[in-house]
Amino acid sequence: MSGLMVAGLSKSYTLGDTRLDVLRDLSLQMNPGESIAIVGPSGCGKSTLLHLLGTLESPDSGDIEIDGVSPFKLAEGQLAQFRNLKIGFIFQDHHLLPQLTVLENVMVPALARGAADDKDRMRATDLLSQVELADRMTHLPSELSGGQRERVAIARSLFCKPTLLLADEPTGNLDRRTAERMTGLLLELQQQSNAILVIVTHSDTMAAAMGRRAELIDGKLIE
Ligand code: ADP
Ligand code: MG
Repeated sequence: MSGLMVAGLSKSYTLGDTRLDVLRDLSLQMNPGESIAIVGPSGCGKSTLLHLLGTLESPDSGDIEIDGVSPFKLAEGQLAQFRNLKIGFIFQDHHLLPQLTVLENVMVPALARGAADDKDRMRATDLLSQVELADRMTHLPSELSGGQRERVAIARSLFCKPTLLLADEPTGNLDRRTAERMTGLLLELQQQSNAILVIVTHSDTMAAAMGRRAELIDGKLIE
């Protein structure tokens, strides 16, 4: 079964003696090539949901399947490998490594596996051309604009040809025109690779560009 299946997902946090039920019996199903915008007020649990989908945190109950695999049933080392191969992340602050060049940042998934080879270098170069950064490959992140850093993050997220692309308010720090260009670029690359795109956004324009839209209300997704 290719795609994403989420069933009965629940997650709560306990702070002192207060328990906060952030996600309650949440379900979601997505086929390859689909995109969805997740909207909702600050604090409603959008980032928590993305962390769970990205297997960075585990749920209290419920299950996630990505291409037929339940990542939380994998052993620790296998889970890291699965995440590296199947999931691409784009966060608002980009998490680029400041000491690495643009090209090296895009190849980080390969470096995490061991050394990068010529094939990895070609793939990274190709992605950087697609996001129009071919002339910035030897720059450091600190030498780029916010929009350019965003494009590096997009290129890096696609490096392993992930099944699932997760973006948490990716254009939150960009001006409107740049944000709209990034949205178009992200959708184009997602459709080319037939990945599933789950994007958290406060932008109505960005949300409207996605195939589906869901609001996170009382711990559930309402489409
Ligand atoms: P959003 O991304 O929609 O703004 P979050 O998913 O970041 O919301 O947070 C949802 C709720 O869970 C918030 O009330 C937040 O304070 C709480 N929360 C998030 N992470 C933790 C944590 N690690 N420990 C305790 N509470 C948390
Ligand atoms: Mg958030």
